[in-house]
Amino acid sequence: MLGNAVIMGPGQATPRLSGMTVVGPCATDARVSETFPEIREAVRRLCARFPGPYWRALDRERAYPTEFVAALTEAGFLSVLIPEEYGGSGLGLAAGAAVLEEIHRSGSNGGACHAQMYTMGVVLRHGSAAQKQAYLPKIASGELRLQAFGVTEPDAGTDTTRITTFARREGDTYVVSGKKLWISRAEHSDLMVLLCRTTSRDQAAKPSDGMSVLLVDMREAVGAGLTIRPIRTMLNHATTELFFEDLRVPAANLIGEEGKGFRYILDGMNAERILIAAECIGDARFFIDRASAYAKDRQVFGRPIGENQGVQFPIARAYVQMTAASLMVDAAAALFEAGEPCGTEANMAKLAASEASWYAADMAVQTHGGFGFAEEYDIERKFRETRLYQVAPISTNLILSHVATHVLDLPKSF
Ligand SMILES: Cc1cc2nc3c(=O)[nH]c(=O)nc-3n(C[C@H](O)[C@H](O)[C@H](O)COP(=O)(O)OP(=O)(O)OC[C@H]3O[C@@H](n4cnc5c(N)ncnc54)[C@H](O)[C@@H]3O)c2cc1C
Repeated sequence: MLGNAVIMGPGQATPRLSGMTVVGPCATDARVSETFPEIREAVRRLCARFPGPYWRALDRERAYPTEFVAALTEAGFLSVLIPEEYGGSGLGLAAGAAVLEEIHRSGSNGGACHAQMYTMGVVLRHGSAAQKQAYLPKIASGELRLQAFGVTEPDAGTDTTRITTFARREGDTYVVSGKKLWISRAEHSDLMVLLCRTTSRDQAAKPSDGMSVLLVDMREAVGAGLTIRPIRTMLNHATTELFFEDLRVPAANLIGEEGKGFRYILDGMNAERILIAAECIGDARFFIDRASAYAKDRQVFGRPIGENQGVQFPIARAYVQMTAASLMVDAAAALFEAGEPCGTEANMAKLAASEASWYAADMAVQTHGGFGFAEEYDIERKFRETRLYQVAPISTNLILSHVATHVLDLPKSF
């Protein structure tokens, strides 16, 4: 399912974001991720208004960071990828990656709203002119939240062609029945991109045919055929399960052609994986920054623990791994922006970055000793948060399988 989907990059219009001058990527810079310095600085300033105690309080209650998301929306950071003609900044994917990396480096978490940045891509690339005009300007302004993405189902798991949520056509309406699992931000979204079957798998010409994408208006759907049930998880992620019982969706909300939805969804996954990889780079930098500071400060046996190579080397190794992964993220984003196939690179970047952030997380706990487990240091919270990215949005094994069979031509196992 991890095809080398060819995706159209977002518009290459003149960079613009809240009046700032944007400096382009400079991949050979020794500090590889210091691209878009003005955007990064502005994101850092915004995140400084939402320090550790803000996130800790939300984490305890598993509450949604409404104020943080509103501030990002107002500053225009969530609409950087929307072309200027629809009210966005018209920047490329690397700019979006810089925003999300800085959010995570600051100790904040973009998981509450990152999908507002890229889920609109399915409308932008495959929607009709009328749909683009109706939705994109309102998504750009934040008037409409499109940040729910309904693909995963309990009985299909990673094998998306096995989904069974079905949309039956009745005149100018689709009637949807079925269930979805792990659909994040559904309670905080006005619209949802929903992948469902319009032809059953056994009736379709091939397993990936017969799936369609519907844009569901959550404001009308909840209580009229859609039930949302929150799932409490090890991190604060506002994820849910969804139950559809004869939910009626106007046929005008079909995106693109009926039966071609799987391809549209794959298109968007490259952007998602690159942006989430950037979040992992931000997490790794957070852990490295915190561990370095603590190792210089904490005195044991009459000297800073950071004087011991047993403490230094894991921090240095985390930095090397983060830097290598960051270069992969930059390379994947550059391919995406050039409109080149980048499925393999997007997946490899996500794998490398999620492993770099997890190594850095473990290192930071070890460096902090007992304080690595104390809520007030934020290490344990970020440790739980960054673990997600080896499972979602795609698990490590599935990426390895793609590389093994598509790149190295090893025999397929499924
Ligand atoms: C917090 C959270 C938020 C999420 N948000 C969303 C969302 O907004 N929208 C959405 O659609 N989905 C979402 N997901 C779902 C996520 O994309 C899936 O959990 C992920 O893709 C893994 O699928 P699964 O859980 O069904 O695992 P399974 O497919 O059941 O796999 C379980 C394990 O087995 C391994 N495995 C399976 N088959 C093979 C194989 N052939 N070879 C080797 N290993 C294999 C997998 O790698 C995995 O480690 C979210 C998940 C979580 C936990």
